[in-house]
Amino acid sequence: MPEGDTIFRTARSMGRALIGRPITAFRSNYPLLTRFHDDTPITGQTVERVESRGKWLLINFSGGATLVTHMLMNGTWHLYRIGERWRKPSRDMRIVLENREYQAVAFTVPVARIYTAQALAREKRIPPPGADVLSEDFDPLTAAARLSACSNEEVGDVLLQQQVLAGVGNVFKSEICFVESINPFCLVSALNGEQVAALIRTSQRLVAANALEDSADGIVTYGGQQRRTTHRSGPGESLWVYGRSGQPCRRCNNAIRHRLQGPDARITYWCETCQPMPDGSEIDGMQG
Ligand SMILES: [Zn+2]
Repeated sequence: MPEGDTIFRTARSMGRALIGRPITAFRSNYPLLTRFHDDTPITGQTVERVESRGKWLLINFSGGATLVTHMLMNGTWHLYRIGERWRKPSRDMRIVLENREYQAVAFTVPVARIYTAQALAREKRIPPPGADVLSEDFDPLTAAARLSACSNEEVGDVLLQQQVLAGVGNVFKSEICFVESINPFCLVSALNGEQVAALIRTSQRLVAANALEDSADGIVTYGGQQRRTTHRSGPGESLWVYGRSGQPCRRCNNAIRHRLQGPDARITYWCETCQPMPDGSEIDGMQG
């Protein structure tokens, strides 16, 4: 599953190739998209904006409509110069957007819809413009309010909610909690205001540090600016806790643990010593 920083990089390079240029061709094998295109031709319009909101990629056209795609597990947008050979089979093609120089191709994108501005604003599944930690409109104070409002949920689950904080994926979730010494299984209500603010600051910092990296290789949270060079011995080498179950904590040397968390059973890594449960926040039934 691509994390927010990956989609952000995709949006940025697509923006460079598409914004301001008239679209010369559009095709898709999604009937809803081609029907829209038949009624309101996308060709001849220009792309005004390409943005990521969490795992959603939004391409906004001069006519006011927005093409929205979600990558889920396997979807991806590729950018080619006209005439360049695709690096994926054409049977995986779902959408093609072309201008005179570039061709943007969506492969195996499972969710694709075109929204009017009003319909987009009403769509609850797509995070609002300022929710993405990488967005220029991101406001830490309203993000803190959204996070604090989930008081009865576990911190690790809430960090994954795109409506609260878009752009934070499952790898970042564990990393952010570790960096802030917060137990991912504690309830949001157990956090004080400073801890909430710190979680948001760290989310922005870690996701942004990876988005600025121009290469598409793995996420780096541990090791400063050290870059992935040659073969690595395993996943998690550049991370604090993610993928490091059983290995020594980089701060205290105790073994990193992992457990499935939340309604979607997403894997969470943490250090019991560095990220203790706050006093009195244990769930009664879990003790003894
Ligand atoms: Zn530790």
